[in-house]
Amino acid sequence: MTKERLYLFDTTLRDGAQTTGVDFSLEDKRLIIKTLDELGLDYIEGGYPGANVTDTELFATEHTLKNATLTAFGMTKRAGRSVSNDPGFQAILQARCGAICLVAKAWDYHVRVALGITNDENLEGVAQSVEAIVRQNAREARGGAGREAMIDCEHFFDGYKANRDYALAVATSAYKSGARWVVLCDTNGGTLPHEVSEIVAEVTKHVPGSHLGIHTHNDTENAVANTLAAVLAGARQIQGTLNGLGERCGNANLTSLIPTLLLKPEFAKRFEVKVGPEQLKKLTHASRVLDEILNRAPNRQAPYVGEAAFATKAGIHASAILKEPATYEHVVPDSVGNRRRVLVSDQAGKSNLLYELERLGVPVGRDDPRVAQLLDEVKAREAMGYAYEGADASFELLARRLLGTVPDFFHVKGFRVEVERRYNSNGTLITVSEASVKATIAGGEEVWSVAEGNGPVNALDQALRKDLGRYQGIIKDVELVDYKVRILTGGTEAVTRVLVESRDKATAERWFTVGVSPNIVDASFEALIDSITYKLLRAGAAA
Ligand SMILES: [Zn+2]
Repeated sequence: MTKERLYLFDTTLRDGAQTTGVDFSLEDKRLIIKTLDELGLDYIEGGYPGANVTDTELFATEHTLKNATLTAFGMTKRAGRSVSNDPGFQAILQARCGAICLVAKAWDYHVRVALGITNDENLEGVAQSVEAIVRQNAREARGGAGREAMIDCEHFFDGYKANRDYALAVATSAYKSGARWVVLCDTNGGTLPHEVSEIVAEVTKHVPGSHLGIHTHNDTENAVANTLAAVLAGARQIQGTLNGLGERCGNANLTSLIPTLLLKPEFAKRFEVKVGPEQLKKLTHASRVLDEILNRAPNRQAPYVGEAAFATKAGIHASAILKEPATYEHVVPDSVGNRRRVLVSDQAGKSNLLYELERLGVPVGRDDPRVAQLLDEVKAREAMGYAYEGADASFELLARRLLGTVPDFFHVKGFRVEVERRYNSNGTLITVSEASVKATIAGGEEVWSVAEGNGPVNALDQALRKDLGRYQGIIKDVELVDYKVRILTGGTEAVTRVLVESRDKATAERWFTVGVSPNIVDASFEALIDSITYKLLRAGAAA
């Protein structure tokens, strides 16, 4: 049986960019386009030329992509103007790209209230806009291939429920005018899967499924389910974003949809996408690239690509997983570029520990007595408040120290942290933190650094990383990206656990370290020292 082709349309750079706090630079956009293209997307919506400087610049030059067709977004022509007399529309026609996706109102209520025009004027606008793109193709014969026209039917599902005939008229008018794709949008995100199934099946009687797309939002957490329902009902283009980025609750998450289409037999047997098995292995990487650009901590629980997606904690499950992974995993982690994690914790059995040591590349024999010693040490420390399942790097240091292979890169002889709250010369109440650190670097060099920060831990971090003698070059791109404090009240007095997430800006590598103490600054200090030591170890620095 020949498989039917599904087309993937990424809208991270346009719809995803509507998210509060998200603002892509031109360089960000170029990097995301490259990542998506390598992944094997069919269409990448770059932005809205004419709407802002970045997007206009993006579409001013030709892009050579391996897989994807760069797509410009815009509005259909304004009512009361001809296509050639609408500067906004002309800016879109000038864009250097292989496809144009125009948004059109498909709900008569919006046509009346938001546009203030008649239903017929709106239909005419859709038809003339699509025709203008098709006509321009005929004139310019862009490489013989022509530029594809698409219409995003905004509020299609709500419009269909309110006025079925009108919503269908908008879709049909776009199709008959020559649109390659007519995309049905659940713009408010409130439609449920059974409704999507019914409505899409109805629409295929008017516009063939081979020309229908689906665009869903996640307001009932059904964006992925709605997309799959639309595909089963006949739609053949899928719009979505990486990591489900998008305003409110987000868009359909391509990072979940792509592996589902490739790895679940229900879809894999019937359909094919341009993303192949080798490209699928880049999925976790692509997801992280976007987080990096957004400077966000990756969602640990993200399906397929999250840190926790293939993690197991309990000892009994862990030994089964190591024997037969399929017992506890719905797909093979490696297929999406993720990995299996057997968490080290106080429930850990010996098999967890051996698995982790092997993964970290710490050489140790199965029957080495030091493994039991390490297990006891982990359990004793967890009883004190340490948590290694969230702190891979601290665990690796602990294991390597016990097995005798962490060099003494530096030794902190002492530190001092001051917090002062006072009125400045303008009479404003301010709090100033200052830290000083004295350390001996391997080889004997002594350093003494002083730094200010916006709090005691920040000041200490700044001072520690200000001057580390001959190691400074290695740690110069390291920064603290997240800092979590947990007060544990297990015994008679409170203990503080600090979890630090560090990042190397140059390599995009992230690692987690932990510190525990009754004193918050001490706990932070311990986690910071582990962070720097881990970086030096990773970089292969010599003591
Ligand atoms: Zn949308």
